[in-house]
Amino acid sequence: KKAEIRTTLNPLHAAIRNNSSPAVTFIRSRVERMSERWKQAAVRMRQSNNQTDSTQMKVLLYPGALAGSAGQRFEALVERGGPLGELVQWADLSASLTILGHNLTFSTSQQQLHSLIGAAPGRGSCPIQRPLTFDLIYTDYHGLAHLQGAMGLAFLHYQCRFRILDSFGTEPAFNLGSYARSHGYKTLWGSWDLQPLQYMTMFPHTPDNSFLGFVSEEAVKDVKEEELESDSNRKNRIAVVYGKQDYMWKGKSEYVEVISEELETHATVYQPPGLTSNLPSFIRNHGLLTQEHFLRLLRGAKVFVGLGFPYEGPAPIEAIALGCVFLQPRFDPPHSSENNDFYKGKPTTRQISSQHPYAEKLIGKPHVWTVDVSNKTEVREAVRAILRTEVKPFTPREFTCEGMLERVRDYIAHQDFCSKSLPTWPPECALRVHLGPLGQSCESVCQRSSLVCEPALFHYLNTPAALARLKIGCSSTRQEVNHLFPAYSPWGQQCGLQQDPLLFSCAGSDLSQRRLCPCRAHLPGQVALSPDCL
Ligand code: UDP
Repeated sequence: KKAEIRTTLNPLHAAIRNNSSPAVTFIRSRVERMSERWKQAAVRMRQSNNQTDSTQMKVLLYPGALAGSAGQRFEALVERGGPLGELVQWADLSASLTILGHNLTFSTSQQQLHSLIGAAPGRGSCPIQRPLTFDLIYTDYHGLAHLQGAMGLAFLHYQCRFRILDSFGTEPAFNLGSYARSHGYKTLWGSWDLQPLQYMTMFPHTPDNSFLGFVSEEAVKDVKEEELESDSNRKNRIAVVYGKQDYMWKGKSEYVEVISEELETHATVYQPPGLTSNLPSFIRNHGLLTQEHFLRLLRGAKVFVGLGFPYEGPAPIEAIALGCVFLQPRFDPPHSSENNDFYKGKPTTRQISSQHPYAEKLIGKPHVWTVDVSNKTEVREAVRAILRTEVKPFTPREFTCEGMLERVRDYIAHQDFCSKSLPTWPPECALRVHLGPLGQSCESVCQRSSLVCEPALFHYLNTPAALARLKIGCSSTRQEVNHLFPAYSPWGQQCGLQQDPLLFSCAGSDLSQRRLCPCRAHLPGQVALSPDCL
């Protein structure tokens, strides 16, 4: 059966109706608040000609972070300023799959997971594995462990159907267990031996993973210039500070004070009943707001102020979409799993140059100002400059409903990790081979040419013939399990080819290697997809 675009979210409402935990309540109210936009995007998608046919998939959504004992801890935090970014993503993924016409089951119960996919009790102690009835299972790192428990040996057989929501990403060197153990990439997470593209991130982090994203607010379209004018006049001299919990404000009072000299400064920090607030007295705290009220507050504000934590969340993208300027701390030296408790144990070598590198690097001025917050003069001058500029609302296409729908649609139509044959999406004509300079990752090699590294194209250049075509002139060529390969080392003119396809990696660099990189172009505002190249 073909997946037909729906213009209703009713099947999703039905799938989450019977769950009233705080997390699912947040998801439900987000889906309801945005349902009109989803429907309009569905109508436009139906009308457009660039349809990609897909069969209707039977999909299980299992946010493991909401299940079991970890789930209880997470749920307890939802109404107390805990992380909501994951919930934003689950809500928008569920809505996307519903609009795209797939058949959804949503569960946050470990017990129910067993009845949905587990082995049936057989005779004596010998359980009988039933065939898996789901074509796709979206889960997270917590859920992977639950699935392994429920499926036993069948886990290995079916893992190609899994998709892992993994906000910060998993680089190949951390994903391949044997390699991680022997090369010092062993971390708390990681080592599941999946295909790196099965991990789906919140922002386009390492291109080794699939960028799933979420949907932000959208800049108002189709309004007359004068109305837009008056909209920007409606912006008051208000700053909203980003940070739902008290501890995020620690050591930041001087920075916030400089801002409050120029702007009326608001906050949405969770306030435990009975306890007095530690926030500076000049802050107008609203307490944790519902998403609707939080967005309304942003709509009337001029500046959204990052304190340095939380990292890489959705809120700055929403603020920018509502016409705010995002002011945030620069990290020098950058934060990483080497020097920072939050990133420690995360399966990534990324260097985080500010609270929100996507906002810093892919959006930038006039929407985003990244400053040294210990330098009061720099902060003050930034705030004054921001107050002098008129900034229009902005939403990158990849964070609109349509952008997310076309991305998820294409992933479902083209990403097949169960097939034994080599990937054919994107097609070979998209490939732009680059031989990088010493010490650079393919991610940055491609980026410097305004392209993106595309791991699904590595196999085209991992052959002696490809090396010959590039006239690299290898004196010797070896095959090795090495996340930097294919690569060329000028010392002894040695060429190296990759032996394990799971280790093809856009991330990773070494001062002795020039990496051979599969780059491709991308659609404007949509890094995950390449333009047609027939
Ligand atoms: N949010 C909210 N109430 C508030 C502050 C934020 O509902 O008082 C929402 C916000 O709209 C965003 C989500 O919380 O979509 C996640 O925000 P954040 O960027 O803080 O990421 P997190 O660290 O929670 O994952």
